[in-house]
Amino acid sequence: MATTTLPEAEVLETKTTTTKYVYFFGDGKADGNGKMKDVLGGKGAGLAEMTNAGLPVPPGFTIQTEACREYMRRGAVSREVDAQMDAALDKLEKLQGQKLGKGDNPLLVSVRSGAKFSMPGMMDTILNLGLNDHSVEALAKRAAARFAYDSYRRLIQMFGNVVLDIEKAEFEEVFDGKKKQKKVKLDTELDSKALKEVIEEYKKVVKKHAKRDFPQDAHEQLVMARDAVFRSWNNDRAKHYRRINNISDDLGTAVNVQAMVFGNLGETSGTGVGFTRNPATGTKEFYGEFLMNAQGEDVVSGVRTPVHITELEKIMPDVYNQLRDITTRLEKHYKDMQDFEFTIQDGKLYMLQTRNGKRTGLAAVRVALQMVDEGLITKEEAIFRVEPNQLYDFLVPRLDEKGQKIEVLAKGLPASPGAAVGQIVFTADDAVEKVGRDRKAAVILVRGETTPEDIHGMEVAKGILTSRGGMTSHAAVVTRGMGKCCVAGAGDVDVNEKAREMRVKGQVFKEGDWISLDGTTGRVIKGKLNTLDPSPDDPELQKFMGWADPYRTIKVRANADIPRDAIQARAFGAEGIGLCRTEHMFFGEQKIPNMRAMILADNEKDRRAALKKLLPLQRNDFIGVFRAMDGFPVTIRTLDPPLHEFLPSREELMVNIATLSQMSAKDKKELVTKYKDYGAKAAGDLKKLLPSLLARVEQLHEFNPMLGHRGCRLGITYPEITEMQARAIFEAAVAVAKDGVKVIPEVMIPLTATLKEMANQAEIVNRVAKEVFAEKERTVDYLVGTMIELPRAALVADEIAKEAQFFSFGTNDLTQTTWGFSRDDVNKILPTYIEEGIIKQDPFAVLDQDGVGQLVKLATERGRKTRSNLKIGICGEHGGEPSSVEFCYKTGMNYVSCSPFRVLTARLAAAQAAATEKLGVEGGRTK
Ligand code: PEP
Ligand code: MG
Repeated sequence: MATTTLPEAEVLETKTTTTKYVYFFGDGKADGNGKMKDVLGGKGAGLAEMTNAGLPVPPGFTIQTEACREYMRRGAVSREVDAQMDAALDKLEKLQGQKLGKGDNPLLVSVRSGAKFSMPGMMDTILNLGLNDHSVEALAKRAAARFAYDSYRRLIQMFGNVVLDIEKAEFEEVFDGKKKQKKVKLDTELDSKALKEVIEEYKKVVKKHAKRDFPQDAHEQLVMARDAVFRSWNNDRAKHYRRINNISDDLGTAVNVQAMVFGNLGETSGTGVGFTRNPATGTKEFYGEFLMNAQGEDVVSGVRTPVHITELEKIMPDVYNQLRDITTRLEKHYKDMQDFEFTIQDGKLYMLQTRNGKRTGLAAVRVALQMVDEGLITKEEAIFRVEPNQLYDFLVPRLDEKGQKIEVLAKGLPASPGAAVGQIVFTADDAVEKVGRDRKAAVILVRGETTPEDIHGMEVAKGILTSRGGMTSHAAVVTRGMGKCCVAGAGDVDVNEKAREMRVKGQVFKEGDWISLDGTTGRVIKGKLNTLDPSPDDPELQKFMGWADPYRTIKVRANADIPRDAIQARAFGAEGIGLCRTEHMFFGEQKIPNMRAMILADNEKDRRAALKKLLPLQRNDFIGVFRAMDGFPVTIRTLDPPLHEFLPSREELMVNIATLSQMSAKDKKELVTKYKDYGAKAAGDLKKLLPSLLARVEQLHEFNPMLGHRGCRLGITYPEITEMQARAIFEAAVAVAKDGVKVIPEVMIPLTATLKEMANQAEIVNRVAKEVFAEKERTVDYLVGTMIELPRAALVADEIAKEAQFFSFGTNDLTQTTWGFSRDDVNKILPTYIEEGIIKQDPFAVLDQDGVGQLVKLATERGRKTRSNLKIGICGEHGGEPSSVEFCYKTGMNYVSCSPFRVLTARLAAAQAAATEKLGVEGGRTK
């Protein structure tokens, strides 16, 4: 049935709504203030706060984020938004004594986005709005003609692109064509007449692609621009940025409409950006750049080279002093380093933006220390001024940008921080070859994307650059583990592996050309820059950690398998080893043949013989690790992975068997080398060896090896393996204890799901310990515990704790088994899941507190019901991720354990978590 009445909810809303959608600022007062970032966005809140502080801010109004959310829900804003916007525009026109796009002195405005968290360059902006065929003439009369026409053509271009979705290239083609036609090089060389012609051609471009005329009505321009900015919240760039920066999709952006001020009115006008301290190094200096007679985009676009901000003092000393004075006041007011934008119009300074500036980890630490010294913030607040992940900056090389020419070729994702400088290679084999020829060669491996087959090249390369792939791409994940710099997904880099070249915006780079990568910002830079060494001993870092660490109540350990990593971990402040994966010890040159012999053995006698050979090798490794961790606990896990991981692939064996009879002598010789660990001595051995090897591989083959014959299941089916490992551990422990080293071994059984499994393995470990102590006539204290990495283990944790003296959460496997996601293949699913909003973050990187976290909590409670002093930690990847560390702290764990390179991060995250609770407030994070 047709009805003319509005649905009830709608009626109610129109009658009762009191939502304030539009906030005015100007003439020394603003409706909003600096605390209203949720509502006004960062930019809007900053403009309101500066206006209230009496600073020179061009007046305007902010349309709040709720209007954007409404637009996203309904595809349009409500009439109320329109009405409030019109009222604010009316007020602005009265204040300025101008009319939008009308009269002899038309009002022109900028329309800019501004979300709660800054998303630099991700959303859209329109300048010079209000210009049309008439107002441009009025402007031409009041200011210079060239300036007026240039402003108008910029508006059509920006409006055409942002609002009407016309490709930028369409306009660029016209503009470049005009320059060619007039035989000029620089944009500024086009005169008014030429610009008028450009305007006419731009209008044709609009008509052709948007099937409508460029709107001459300034109010219509404003409405369309506002809605386009709202839409830009959901453009691909913005969505991507939010995903990698963990910003909610639901926030929406505000829109700031502000009277235009012009930095391009002549030589007494200009525009610039700056920071109150150096954002790269933290040095207390006025830092930034500007251009006279320019608009904002000229400063950042690279067309003209901006000038260092201190030069402004020479050109306009009064304006410079006023700017210094204002920005110093802003810093004091916000008690944080400010990132500001300004414009000078006819010698008068206007502030366009201020916000807490983004900075490197190095700068974050330094600025925090300085601000405590200056009495601006307390030590407690300082602890929160550094994001835990930023501390990584101290552990990796950095680019030394001082005095160097920086030509940024492209920007990709900051996939793995640090810097790398090297000569380009396009395949992993080329990388290995080049470094093999010259050990000192520095190479950067450039790929479309990397795959596990590239690993050998990644190992020798200084850094990795890929043109495709995201933050969890193979390149990103692997390099982070290696502590190696990586820029991923740099879309402007066109890689042609066959031709051994890459093209970036028209420039061609060949194998051997030098580039520099900044994995902290994602920049790809032309040429060979200098680098600065990592500085984990930096005295300022130590001082900062000296403030943070006392708050920390949980320990931070490292996952380390070999003595070298253990020593490194100690240097970063690790308080023990939370996971020593003994299988990693078997990959060494000497050990792998014995390991393979052990696996190939099809009876206990042969297996024991091979294990006997492994024993002294493993004992030596343990001795090294125990020595490095003198006085700190070392958790050693018994063998975990399925045995076939140590054997050749089934498919490879099948191919070799099938082709053996046709193989040349040379190929056979190569095969003998390949299979020498399995007993091949001469080509004649292959015929018998390969099929028997295949038979064993077939025996061990599993459809789901991750759910298969691994973890404690290995030690239960082959108890002699656990026996050998326990013996190696205790013999090593006794040996170092005799030398006066304080050794605290903790033997950890992987992948248990029942009490009986735990009891079975604990019995072996305890029996061997007793034997060794009796033989060596010396005892050491030790614990036997388990990993909790299966949902069943979490559920029966009270039972398992009867035997286990400690728990360590293996959240890699626990995430895999709780979600049923394969940890090795999840990247096929994850991007879509995140894109669709099905999950917010990669659960293998950030602990899924709602699901996996609940099992962790439950197991902790149940385990401690049985054994109140049960020691509990975590050793999955999450042990070094700040929000997961906070969760572990709140769950009552005794320690977290992570890779050595994340120890500092985990220490700060744990300190911040405890300080937040102790102080009852968050000291004010910079985000
Ligand atoms: C885990 O599963 O979280 C764990 C630490 O063990 P691994 O990664 O070796 O399986
Ligand atoms: Mg595991």
